[in-house]
Parts: sequence; structure tokens; C-alpha cells
Amino acid sequence: MKQPSVLVVEDEPAIAELIAVNLRHNGFRPTLAMDGDSAQREIDAMLPDLVLLDWMLPGASGLTLARRWRSDPRTKAVPIIMLTARGDEADRVAGLDAGADDYMAKPFSTKEMLARIRAVLRRRAPEQSTVTLEIGQLKLDTATHRVSYADQSLKLGPTEFKLLQYLMSHAERVHSRGQLLDKVWGDHVFIEERTVDVHIKRLREALGDAAAMVETVRGAGYRLSAQAMSTASPTRG
Ligand code: CA
Repeated sequence: MKQPSVLVVEDEPAIAELIAVNLRHNGFRPTLAMDGDSAQREIDAMLPDLVLLDWMLPGASGLTLARRWRSDPRTKAVPIIMLTARGDEADRVAGLDAGADDYMAKPFSTKEMLARIRAVLRRRAPEQSTVTLEIGQLKLDTATHRVSYADQSLKLGPTEFKLLQYLMSHAERVHSRGQLLDKVWGDHVFIEERTVDVHIKRLREALGDAAAMVETVRGAGYRLSAQAMSTASPTRG
């Protein structure tokens, strides 16, 4: 079994380092982030198997981050354990309401931390399993965040990845720009529909030889189709 990756979001270096050392000794792969912005960058780059999230952080609080990740379709299944110096019930409830899977009051023992991590991973295991989407020769791995076409690996930005993941999970169906905004960007954002066109263009550029799989359906929206490849000319340009 692969070593589970854990994103540790903690602004106190001594605590972060102690957690990381203990995780490493127990078969986990920790990544450290000291504040909300770097935590978001890490999450955008690769989905961890679990997040240990400190409540009190400079900038965005752990609570804000937990809410944001829970409302994003890409990150909503990643288990979160909140860490905090506060231990009273109101805070515990607020943390769980924000979507945290569990809650640990500092100071906690390594034993307790590992037990809670394992329990959360066990509970989440069915949804957390690796999903590889495959349409024709186009492959997308949700766990490693890798995309390849005809075994050539492709480089996609975070939005293009989410867009492709959605289109591949609902292939051969036509999606309007409004539907894509809703499903890929989330319904809390106010973005113009032409933003979708911009990202579709970027997605096609990133897909290279597989670009034709993303079809424009006049007056309706976009569709990802394996059939499109058989009618497209094999050479481009
Ligand atoms: Ca802190």
C-alpha cells in the first residue's frame, strides 16, 4: 500500500516539525504549510490523503480553509482533522460544522494523533480510493493528479484539471457554460460565462493531440467525446 500523504497546516514551526517527524516515522508522507496561502497552493498542486489543519493561522483561519475546501468539488472528499489550542464545545462544534472530520485539542499525544488519523482514513477509505478516468487514450488520475494522452503526460493548470475531470466523469453529454460554472467553479462564485471559454481554450492547448475530444456544441455548450477523435484529422496544424 502506498504511504498516505498528509498536509500539515500549522504556523508554529516546532509543532509542525514534531508532527512531521512522527508522521514520517509511522509511514506517512507529510507536507508542511505555514499559512493559508501556502496550504491552498499545496492543495492546488496535489490532493493529500488527509489534512491536519490548525485553527489559528496567520491570514485565513483554519475554519475558513475547511469551509472553502468542503465547498470545492475537487477537495470536498479530503478528510480534515482540525488542531487547536481551544478545547471548548462551541469551538468543537464550529469546527465540525465547517466540515472537519475530527478535532484534536492541543496538546495531544503522538499516539492519539495517529489513532485519529487512521480512524478518519478508514472511515473515508471507500471514497478516497484512486479513481482513474479513461476515455479513449486520455487518462486522468484523481489521486496523483496526472493526465496523459497516448501515454504522454500532459501539463494542466488546476482549473483545467477540474474542468477535464468533470467533463470526463460526464463524457458524451453536453454541458452549458452555466452548468460548467456551477459544477467546476462552484455556485458561490460570480464569474462570467465567457471565463469558461477561456479555460476550454487553455484545456485544448494543454491536451495537444487530444484537443478535438473537447467539442463545442453550437448554441449548447461543450462535450467531451471519444468519438470526436475518430472523425478528427490525425495531424494538427
Ligand atoms: Ca497556530
